[in-house]
Amino acid sequence: MFKPYFFLLIVLFYCFPTQAQHPTKPTSSEIYQAIEKLSFLGSVLYVAAHPDDENTRLISHMANGVKSRTAYLSLTRGDGGQNLIGPELKELLGVIRTQELLAARRIDGGEQLFTRADDFGYSKHPDETLAIWNENEVLSDVVWAIRNFQPDIIINRFDHRSPGTTHGHHTSSALLSLKAFDYAADKSKFPNQLKSVDVWQAKREFFNTSWWFYGSKEKFDAADKTNQYAVEVGDFYPALGLSNPEIAALSRSAHKSQGFGNTGTRGSDFEYLELIKGDAPKDINNIFEGIDTSWNRVKNGQRIGEVLKEVQDNYDFKNPSASIPKLVEAYKLVQKLENSHWKTLKSEDLKNVIAACAGLFLEAVAESNLATPNSKVTLELEAINRSPQNMRLNAISLSDGTTIEKNTDLKFNHSHRFESQINIPSTTSYSTPYWLETKGTLGMYKVDDQSLIGLPKTPKESTATFHVSIAGEPLSYTKPIVYKTNDPVKGEVYKPFEIVPVVAAHIAEPVIIFADDQQKDIQVIVKANRNTIEGYVQLAHPQGWQVYPEKQNITITNKGEEQSLIFTVIPPKNQSEGLLTPMVHVGDEVFNKKLVEINYDHIPFQMVLLPNASKVVRLDIKKKGENIGYIEGAGDVVPESLRQIGYNVAIIKPDDINAETLSRFDAIVVGIRAYNTVDALKFKQQQLFDFVEQGGNLIVQYNTNGGLVVDQLAPYPLKLSRDRVTDENSEVVLLNTTNELLNYPNKITTKDFEGWVQERGLYFPNQWSKEFTPVLSMHDKNESPKEGSLLVAKYGKGHYIYTGLSFFREFPEGVAGAYRLFANMLSVGKESLKTSQQLKN
Ligand SMILES: [Zn+2]
Repeated sequence: MFKPYFFLLIVLFYCFPTQAQHPTKPTSSEIYQAIEKLSFLGSVLYVAAHPDDENTRLISHMANGVKSRTAYLSLTRGDGGQNLIGPELKELLGVIRTQELLAARRIDGGEQLFTRADDFGYSKHPDETLAIWNENEVLSDVVWAIRNFQPDIIINRFDHRSPGTTHGHHTSSALLSLKAFDYAADKSKFPNQLKSVDVWQAKREFFNTSWWFYGSKEKFDAADKTNQYAVEVGDFYPALGLSNPEIAALSRSAHKSQGFGNTGTRGSDFEYLELIKGDAPKDINNIFEGIDTSWNRVKNGQRIGEVLKEVQDNYDFKNPSASIPKLVEAYKLVQKLENSHWKTLKSEDLKNVIAACAGLFLEAVAESNLATPNSKVTLELEAINRSPQNMRLNAISLSDGTTIEKNTDLKFNHSHRFESQINIPSTTSYSTPYWLETKGTLGMYKVDDQSLIGLPKTPKESTATFHVSIAGEPLSYTKPIVYKTNDPVKGEVYKPFEIVPVVAAHIAEPVIIFADDQQKDIQVIVKANRNTIEGYVQLAHPQGWQVYPEKQNITITNKGEEQSLIFTVIPPKNQSEGLLTPMVHVGDEVFNKKLVEINYDHIPFQMVLLPNASKVVRLDIKKKGENIGYIEGAGDVVPESLRQIGYNVAIIKPDDINAETLSRFDAIVVGIRAYNTVDALKFKQQQLFDFVEQGGNLIVQYNTNGGLVVDQLAPYPLKLSRDRVTDENSEVVLLNTTNELLNYPNKITTKDFEGWVQERGLYFPNQWSKEFTPVLSMHDKNESPKEGSLLVAKYGKGHYIYTGLSFFREFPEGVAGAYRLFANMLSVGKESLKTSQQLKN
């Protein structure tokens, strides 16, 4: 029978931050916790929509306090959000957030699952969400997760009864989870899945409510709680030295791209579960009431429970290896059971606990972190038993089919290190997130292989399996091949071992804007991932555009080396757009993908293979002014985008904000969420206002209303709201067609709002003083018009503009109208200046 990969993801040992990529090395008390967990046969599936929706206090309590198998099913990977730590957006942000969820689960002891649903951006109602997602496919994936994971209890983060009160993805997650509870148990639903999984009936389903859903603590206190169960989550775990909320905070803090650093608390605290499906637990203090979570749950399991009880009772914290004989006895008994879910899971857990008790360290390290198909890689293997337990290393089998016979005793604390080679067959797939391999739709990833659906990451194909005998019992441990190196500052650094194409090329800019009909030189960088590359590069281009030369040869001697080529691109006369793709010909093969590296300390190093295409846009745009000062906020690519259309953009550090610096610029632009993230701006607001008063032009992009570092965002009263327009195609009404912003130097029409992506904008002000002029009006379906997306006010001799329009999303996509409108914002006031100069002359 097909064996789902979920079993490879079991989190048995804790791993505290800073060691995202290192192998876990459990302490004696962590091993004891894992032994306790061996005797709990019950599971919880927590369901929500995004990375960060999950309640880490409840997940940690279930995993560490109750010792239940616990997973978080996040329907999406969070592609649609903002990134506080770097430039990655969309699918690359989804890769980061996937890894952040995995990092969180390594800390709180849970497992992580997904569906194929794509986080396409904000939606206000589940109807809208389920129309953009393929509802049936997402439901199928939730059912698939339930049938694989076989949860006794399902807990929803969101309320299925309150559509429209929170993100449409949120309510949808609850609606689909509720439906899947019944569907998973129904043979007639998604029958194709039943080739590899059985139907599964969960026992009960809860909604993880809190005062937040009631609007206030007072309302929550007053509410009817007949159907609610209070779960104490303030546990303290002496074995870990941490309270449950402290672990939950460490886990939550893994969401660094969202800036969700969290401080732990101590002391009694409660989570509330409202029963929404299944029978009510008779014991209000035990949500597993009525479910046998002991070894008696499994036929002939009773004796295993007894043996493991003995292991617990006699556990020697000074010598965990003393438990090995009894653990091996339990393992043998488990092998005699009929095949079942719990047999597979607990066999794996037992093996890992036995290895941990022995201090058994097994590792296969490659000479490089990268290899190409059809190559040979040298491995350094290490096996060491750090216990007095008798142990033999029988053989090591590599994923290429090679078996290395060893037949050697693993003597106490005696390291066996040896070299070998592994073949990387020509059929090996490239290492890249499986859900990004094929182009999906706005709402869905496309994954053809059913066995991959739901997995947090692509399973590693290159592995080494160590076959050992412990207390006479043969046990096999499969380890993905890794790469490690010593960094003079960080020390030991691990990286995944990845299979990459022989060569990858990229154009530095994903979007290249031609603000006039002048040709541009485009740099193509070709990187070799093996020695000795010879071939040529052509640049595929849209019709009407010209590229010279037609092709260029490449010769690269060393792996890792790059060659840079310059192509000249000539745009057409009129507004036009299309794609440029470097096609690298080596031998008979053509390579047209680019490799993107994601490198942050809190998650493992990631390589992502993406379609290699840069968008070229010939814009019809006029500009006034040249020098722009940019005050960075949470991170956006607006400065690079403005440089592309010919502005000189200088980044101004908060410390350098003073009258003299500001006076050098034609306009100052403040990056997204700067007043939420840059503390130092607190002391600079007056200087910015003075700059405006003396004739400057200040453009402030969106901020959220929570946690502003200044009391006054603008020189006049302006109040931010949560108003947003999420439909990127919603109609835009030009409120005042004679307003300078819509006329100078570019004539803006509704055509300029075509082709926008993801949304119109967010966190628009909903109250402003009379000095402000609203320029645009827009709204989502069934909502009142929102006029706060673009506001301009004259202050002294200058202008202040506040905009919640999502320029930071439109620029990287080369949306022409967004550039034309922004050029007008940068030029505001320059027309009257021009007129007065003309008068003087
Ligand atoms: Zn969410």
